[in-house]
Amino acid sequence: MLILTCPYCGVTAEETEFHGGGEAHLKREGPGSDDAALEGYLFHRENPRGVHFERWRHVYGCGKWFHAARDTQTLEVFGTYPAQTTTPPEDLLATIRDKRPGFTWRGIS
Ligand SMILES: [Zn+2]
Repeated sequence: MLILTCPYCGVTAEETEFHGGGEAHLKREGPGSDDAALEGYLFHRENPRGVHFERWRHVYGCGKWFHAARDTQTLEVFGTYPAQTTTPPEDLLATIRDKRPGFTWRGIS
């Protein structure tokens, strides 16, 4: 079972209290983007076996969006952080590096 902690209200609950919103840290593309960049934004997603960064919403709580870093194999959650963050916090990356040496995700390692 996946247990998440909302970084805004501090509630720790099962995933049924939250709603997944897909991959985190996507670079938005729009008018003026070339076709390959727009295609990547619309359709290409990471589907790793291991460390992954995702968007979640605290649907049955404060309603806010946040990011979570977790292992897709073990469901271990490394941490959660506000959705306004454009890159994962360095202290969280250090924790992940300690637990999963050599991990990479969209150029982050
Ligand atoms: Zn919350």
